[in-house]
Amino acid sequence: MFNPLNHWLSRAGKASTAISDEAWDAVFPENPMFAYLSQRDEYRLRDLAEKCLGRIPVVAGKEMQVTEYIKLTIAAQMALPILNLGVDHYHDVKEIVVYPDLFLSYWQSTDRAGVVHNRRRVLSGESWQRGPVILSWAHSHPEKEVLSYPSNVVIHEFAHKLDQLNGSMNGMPALHRDMDIPAWTHIMSQAFNRLNAECKDQQAQEFDPYAATKPAEFFAVSSEYFFLAPQILFDFSPDVYAQLSLYYRQDPLIYYMDQSLPDHIVKMDGDPHLLA
Ligand SMILES: [Zn+2]
Repeated sequence: MFNPLNHWLSRAGKASTAISDEAWDAVFPENPMFAYLSQRDEYRLRDLAEKCLGRIPVVAGKEMQVTEYIKLTIAAQMALPILNLGVDHYHDVKEIVVYPDLFLSYWQSTDRAGVVHNRRRVLSGESWQRGPVILSWAHSHPEKEVLSYPSNVVIHEFAHKLDQLNGSMNGMPALHRDMDIPAWTHIMSQAFNRLNAECKDQQAQEFDPYAATKPAEFFAVSSEYFFLAPQILFDFSPDVYAQLSLYYRQDPLIYYMDQSLPDHIVKMDGDPHLLA
């Protein structure tokens, strides 16, 4: 019987994109989000980035030229969440489309009266179920403009991809066998509801209110904090941090506990709500 996963794996096994030392050195050290990785982790990240590039086409959107540097910058970042999960977690990613900057996304919705509406949004990233991930390059590299909250569009969109793997994008990816589904549901729901209440009361928060829009966004935004600013996530909810640590099988906070906040977590004014 035809098995799409096996087909993808066998096709993927033949493809290989070797990353030169020079290319890797132009990407890895300049991105502060990799600061917590050990040298062994760096080798594994590079291997995963290579596999991602061998298996998933990175193609240019309108008015874009995709260079090797752009491909590798994206691949290294998308490899971080799956460092201890494996590249098979991205078997649903058909391709990555890169636009130079913000792009328009069009879709249709039908209201209760059956009337179809054509809608559009300006986005920096988008993740389609069983389809591509679409990224704005202006928001996908380490020198991107610093926004109000720690943010990373690559982590965000690929967190959605992980979330989609078990059928629906609902904020709960396929948990590992040693994880407790009721505990995940309880902790995430409680934190999501608390954030919503804080947003309603217009309380000042350290946590990006975009996470309060729906559970899937809560998971994606929490994942951004987990890798970029784990201390802020831990301060917001140690239990959410612990659940993500169990899921991603990583513990970046151990590194940051002994460091001052890295430069990329400087907070500035602005509205970054451009993610889907
Ligand atoms: Zn999103």
